[in-house]
Amino acid sequence: METRVIEVEVPGRNEETYREVADMLRRGDIVAIPTETVYGLGADAFNAEAVAKVFEAKERPSFDPLICHLPNAASLSDIADVPPELQGLVNRLAETFWPGPMTLVLPRKSCVPDIVTSGLPTVACRVTQHESMRKIAKALGHPIAAPSANRFGHISPTTAQAVMKELGGRIPLIVDAGACSEGLESTILQPCIDEKGKPAVHLLREGPVTREKLRGLCRVLHKKSSTSPAAHPVNAPGQLPSHYAPTKPLILHNPRAPFTPTPGIVYGLISYQGNSPLAQQNCWAHTESLSPGSGRLAEAAVRLFAVMRAMDEREDVQVIVAEELPETGLGNAMMDRLCRAAARRG
Ligand code: AMP
Ligand code: MG
Repeated sequence: METRVIEVEVPGRNEETYREVADMLRRGDIVAIPTETVYGLGADAFNAEAVAKVFEAKERPSFDPLICHLPNAASLSDIADVPPELQGLVNRLAETFWPGPMTLVLPRKSCVPDIVTSGLPTVACRVTQHESMRKIAKALGHPIAAPSANRFGHISPTTAQAVMKELGGRIPLIVDAGACSEGLESTILQPCIDEKGKPAVHLLREGPVTREKLRGLCRVLHKKSSTSPAAHPVNAPGQLPSHYAPTKPLILHNPRAPFTPTPGIVYGLISYQGNSPLAQQNCWAHTESLSPGSGRLAEAAVRLFAVMRAMDEREDVQVIVAEELPETGLGNAMMDRLCRAAARRG
């Protein structure tokens, strides 16, 4: 794939370019777009297949919840349900720091696909200072889900040239607005009610909006520490096995090996394509296929969390058996999630 670069002036008259980029996102393409912190690899947040392409291009071995970029604070209600007791605090934070390098983690609306939030009940929301991301989101009419535009394990890019080195040939377009002004990832805050019943925030990730800047606005709880993450009740997912996990035991099994059921236990199967030797066994009370027929990893990735949840909610299933998936591309990310779900029950 050839990777095109479009240069924009910021601030400038780039409306036509932004409309063109929004059209590409609407068609399900992914595009590298600058923010004031780092360049993001953006997809239409409401298009789960497009978001799957982001993980594919980054070769991310696990799903990490993505930040949703909004055109303005008023669009927050498109994706988040702010509890009434937190509305005042959220308004104050938004007025003070948006547009800017602050991300708020809030209860999500059901229109946000699972792949964006890694199945979490919350969504990370941001209004960046950079006009490119905001105006493209505005032209698209949907939020843009975007992690940093680098391959997994590499350093976040702060120039279009760095994005080209990372993802050239894998994505159709880079919006080049020059070097990012902050170059440090956004501060992530989760508004909450403290033990005295007062609104406060959990600081999930340190960033340009510092504790000092938050002082006077609200109490800051639980400084996130990369050295002792387990000490904190709330943490940034992706670093902890805190993503959605089924309440029922989950067992991973080779799709070509016979499964021996324990008498008296009712099993449900999560199959990749639905036609493996494992899926042919008649010991399943219920079977769900992630990508029936030919098997497409991107489709399976989009459906994984919903299928896990559906299995978890079924009254006729006690134990979930999940087929091991091909460990290539997005298969790695899905296996990471399934292994964590299986490990929970030891
Ligand atoms: P970034 O690295 O800037 O792409 O931001 C993604 C990070 O935001 C993730 O790795 C998480 O640490 C954090 N994040 C995103 N969504 C959530 C969420 N729902 N709850 C808590 N943290 C989140
Ligand atoms: Mg990153």
